[in-house]
Amino acid sequence: MKAIIFEQHGGAEVLKPANLPDPQIKADEALIEVRACALNHLDVWVRNGLPGIKFPSPHILGNDIAGVVREVGELVSWARPGDEVMVQPGVACGHCAECLAGHDNMCDEYDIIGYRRDGGYAELVAVPGVNVIPKPKNLSWAEAAALPLTGRVPARRGASPAARPGARRRRGRPDRDRPLHRRPAVTALQLRPCLRSSIRAFAC
Ligand SMILES: [Zn+2]
Repeated sequence: MKAIIFEQHGGAEVLKPANLPDPQIKADEALIEVRACALNHLDVWVRNGLPGIKFPSPHILGNDIAGVVREVGELVSWARPGDEVMVQPGVACGHCAECLAGHDNMCDEYDIIGYRRDGGYAELVAVPGVNVIPKPKNLSWAEAAALPLTGRVPARRGASPAARPGARRRRGRPDRDRPLHRRPAVTALQLRPCLRSSIRAFAC
């Protein structure tokens, strides 16, 4: 597949095109054909490098993805090849105490697609199947790609435990980058005026 990668930290000049092997999905993952990937300032932080955080190399940026499902693993029964989807970018282990309590943004293994794992600056991206969200039909690819990670910022205000005074904070993570509790549904509620009739499709 074609992708935009970087192999050393720096300015925009370190980004370069490359041909890479297609991602191989696991049983609980989906392979997405990227139709649009929004830009996020997290891309700049990762590209520049962050103290104490090691990123894979070569690395593919891109947190906010909309596309078409090409393939699903055997454990993914709720999405099929051909489905038009958005990708919720937060990735957690799903089985620790925080995840089981619904606080997956507090998971010690918490990651973001395009942060420490490959993202959407590519023709294909492998994502956890649980992160696949139906794309509202009235949104263009660009509009759908603009929502997943950036949509958490307004949605988080007043909705996430991490946004409340006194909430437990993880050291070293900027508040503005802190993810959202119960993300798809809460994001949909907060963005309801924008999404209108698509709310039911989005709030899965
Ligand atoms: Zn966890």
